[in-house]
Amino acid sequence: MRIPLIAGNWKMHKTIGEAVAFVNELKPLVQSASNVEILLCPIFTALAAVSEAAVGTSIRVGAQDVFWKESGAYTGELSAPMLKDAGCTHVVIGHSERRGRFGVPEPDLAGDAGLVFGDTDAAVNRKLVAALQHGLVPIVCVGETLAERQAGRTDAVVQAQTRAALENVAAADAAPLVFAYEPVWAIGTGETCDADEADRVCGVIRGAVSTAFGEASGAIVRVQYGGSVKPDNAAELLGKPNIDGALVGGASLKADSFAAIIQAAQSSGA
Ligand code: PEP
Repeated sequence: MRIPLIAGNWKMHKTIGEAVAFVNELKPLVQSASNVEILLCPIFTALAAVSEAAVGTSIRVGAQDVFWKESGAYTGELSAPMLKDAGCTHVVIGHSERRGRFGVPEPDLAGDAGLVFGDTDAAVNRKLVAALQHGLVPIVCVGETLAERQAGRTDAVVQAQTRAALENVAAADAAPLVFAYEPVWAIGTGETCDADEADRVCGVIRGAVSTAFGEASGAIVRVQYGGSVKPDNAAELLGKPNIDGALVGGASLKADSFAAIIQAAQSSGA
């Protein structure tokens, strides 16, 4: 049985004090939660404080990105061992915001450089390999843009991203892997992917894992859905057989709405 993972991606929100206050508010709301894994992904500077605040609870802490080298002259980057040192158990890799998939450059930056972030499939793969090597659970985001969906390329895009992420990974190491199906057009927009369609695409991602590693691995790997998940749509999404949890942005910023999504995961028996 795959235990659903409900992960809050706080993006660039909450100071250290706000993040710790959130944990203290969330704790009593989830203290009896069972059959669900709970993860908070705060900003880098709040990781250690959030980990400390979560000690003794079932709340786990993840980073929003990682660099694949362990140390060295990589200004501004953080390695997997450093994230573990700050209390992380998980890391989000290849979020569409990191992949630069919004396609809307900052207007005052010229040319390609205007795409603020730009993780390629190859970079996502290196990050995944580094995370696994150091015992962090990678949550690998894949998903199509609106233009790709309209062109009928959804399945091809998520299959290619999944396949590329798994390069140089041994089937024996696949068990902890988590994928998050995050259609780019549904992130932070209020647009949710239809639950049946989200389930279908999560199945396509699982199928790509099976193709790479065999059916047994495909059956173990968890596939979350992410894209405007809220308390009022969580139960339907999480009740689908191929959806093993949610990667939640906006609705994870308030303890009561995040707790309601956790509750929905438990009730769904996902
Ligand atoms: C996300 O940040 O991964 C996300 C899915 O955001 P939201 O829930 O706000 O759409």
